[in-house]
Amino acid sequence: MKCSNFIISIFVGAFLLIISCSDDEDSCTETTWYQDSDGDGLGNPEESLSACEQPEGYVADNTDTDEGEEDTDTDGDTGGTPSTGSTPLSAFDEFNTDSVTISFDGDEITIESNGLPNHTSPYWATTEPLYIDRIVGDHSTPGTIRSGSYILTVSNDPKIAATSSATGLGAIGISVTGVPIYNDQERANEPLDLETTTGFDYAGGHNGPGGYHYHVESSDVEANTTLSHDDGELIGILADGFLLYGRREDTTGNYPSDLDVSGGHVGSTQHSDEEEFYHYHIINEFYVGSNIVLFGADLQGTPNTIL
Ligand SMILES: [Zn+2]
Ligand SMILES: [Zn+2]
Repeated sequence: MKCSNFIISIFVGAFLLIISCSDDEDSCTETTWYQDSDGDGLGNPEESLSACEQPEGYVADNTDTDEGEEDTDTDGDTGGTPSTGSTPLSAFDEFNTDSVTISFDGDEITIESNGLPNHTSPYWATTEPLYIDRIVGDHSTPGTIRSGSYILTVSNDPKIAATSSATGLGAIGISVTGVPIYNDQERANEPLDLETTTGFDYAGGHNGPGGYHYHVESSDVEANTTLSHDDGELIGILADGFLLYGRREDTTGNYPSDLDVSGGHVGSTQHSDEEEFYHYHIINEFYVGSNIVLFGADLQGTPNTIL
C-alpha cells in the first residue's frame, strides 16, 4: 500500500512537473507587432497586436509612413523598387517655346520639337538672323540648320528599369532649345574622335544626315547666352523620360558625388520644390580633348521611341 501510494505520488509529481513545465513555455514574453501590409519591412504604427511569436504580415518596426500605399514593382519580381519620384512639371517651362510644344495628357507628357535652336551658330544659313562666323572648331559638316520633327512621349512618373538600355544613333533626347540630343557616337560603335569634335559649334552641335544635333556640352564663350556650361541648368529630357541637367547641382553649385554609371541619382532640383526624383547630370569628365559629352551612357529607364 505504501509502495503504491509512493508510485502514485511519483506519477502525480511528474504530472505536476510536466504541467508546470508547459506552463513555463506558455508564459512567454509578449511583444507588440505592427502590421506590414505592403511588405516593405516597415510596420504601421496604427495597426498593432501583442504576441509571443511574430505573426504573419506583422513586423517589430513601427515606422512605416506610407503604409497602405503600394510600392511600385516595375520589374515584376514582386519586390518593390525605391521610389524614383515623378517629373516636376515646372521643368518644362525651360523649353524654347518657339520650337517646342509640350502637352500633358493624363500621366503622359509629349514633347514635340521642330529642332530649330534659339541661339546663334555657323550652321545656320548665312541669310538667317542667328548665323554667326565660327568661333570654336575649324570646320563645318555639310548642310545648314533646317526644320525637322521630333516627338517624344514619356510618362510623368518614369521608373528605373530592371535592365539599362544602350542608346543608338539618332536622337536620344530633346534639349531645352529644341535641338535633338545625340549620344557619344558619330557612327555606329565609333566613339567621337577629335576630328569630329573640331566640327562642333560653341553649342556642342553640328549637322549630320538627320539634321543639326548636339553631342557635347557647350563652350564657355561670350556668344553663348543660352546654353548650360558647367552649371546646373536643365539640358533636356532623354528618351526614358528622365531629365538631364548640367554638371553641377543648381541648388548647391556642387558637382554631385553620388551619381550612378549613367550620371543619375535621386535628388531635388531647382524645379522640384525639394521633392526628390531621379534625374541625370552631365558627367563631369573629358571625353575626348576638352569635350564633355552630354550623355554617353546607358539609359536607366525604359526608352520611348523618338518619332
Ligand atoms: Zn553627330
Ligand atoms: Zn541632381
